[in-house]
Amino acid sequence: MLHHGYRCTARGALPSFTNVNNASIVTGLPPSGHGISGNFFLDPKTGKEVMMNSAHYLRASTILASAAKIGRRVAMVTAKEKLRDILSHDLDGIRFSAEKANMARIDTHGIEMVEEFVGYPIPEIYSAEASLFVLRAGAALLEKNIADFVYLSTTDYIQHVYSPDTLESLEFYSHMDYEIGRIMKTGATIGITADHGMNAKHKADGSPNVVYLENILQYEFGESVRVICPITDPYVKHHGALGSLVIIHLSHPKDPKLERRIEQRLKQIEGVTEVYDHNTAVEKLELPDDRTGEFIVMSSRNFVLGKTSKYHDLTALDGPLRSHGGRYEEKVPLITSKPLTPEYIIRSEKDPRNFDVFDFTINGTEQ
Ligand SMILES: [Zn+2]
Repeated sequence: MLHHGYRCTARGALPSFTNVNNASIVTGLPPSGHGISGNFFLDPKTGKEVMMNSAHYLRASTILASAAKIGRRVAMVTAKEKLRDILSHDLDGIRFSAEKANMARIDTHGIEMVEEFVGYPIPEIYSAEASLFVLRAGAALLEKNIADFVYLSTTDYIQHVYSPDTLESLEFYSHMDYEIGRIMKTGATIGITADHGMNAKHKADGSPNVVYLENILQYEFGESVRVICPITDPYVKHHGALGSLVIIHLSHPKDPKLERRIEQRLKQIEGVTEVYDHNTAVEKLELPDDRTGEFIVMSSRNFVLGKTSKYHDLTALDGPLRSHGGRYEEKVPLITSKPLTPEYIIRSEKDPRNFDVFDFTINGTEQ
């Protein structure tokens, strides 16, 4: 692919989290267009902090559902069950997760007997196998000509736990290579991108390099300041809900003076690199207006932002913290298995986005 296809660096959507970017990739839109602003958010309608796992929160139709409507045989396979509902919204096709592959039934998932079909047993979610199962399923679906339009979404457990140069990572990528090779052999045009990057977020002694923002802000400005960590998801071993971007909500009536003081204070904190008020965040970070809070705060390359020291369970982590969510994890590769047309080469040089991947792969490659 690297010799005969095309490779460039693309900008993902912020926050650089899984649900946000997977929603962007399947809709072709930034979060302002599809509404998914995190894995987790404070629902302004209810005032409750909830997971954003449901298609109920999605505000745009997907490329997958549209492809099925015009007659393509679509399959969507995700490692994590948490993404299945959003990614299979309105989709008439095959739709299952590696995590719950044994639960797949024809009427609800468009397929059953998945383990037999793929030739591997259902994987443990905290493993390299969880991602490899997704690629193996994709290869099997294409080899057996069950589908001709396939979206495969892996999980970042290995990248959270191992740095890229470790034996575990190298072995994982070599297995990925093999499965992508199987997919290429079917004659498919392949587009590859990532939902986000990943950085080490720990000190030399292995402890997490974290700023507990709600502790600092509540001490100085009172309990009306709430910090939401939108990386929070059910998979605690990955990151302990510590990421590089948080949302700050203020529960008191609007007070511009206080907001300015909070903004000034945030900018002085070591490890904080960017602070945006609501309107700037909506405009510059392309976020949905009603799910953005009063401030968006991002951290530097080797820091994460947390809520309070009590809130995060760091004993769950499987190793020194590696995480994502902010500016330093925004840049990702964009790769196609076939060369780009001259028009798309020009586009690839002008701020390409990871959520252009379907457009580049389908419309932008030399066939
Ligand atoms: Zn992650």
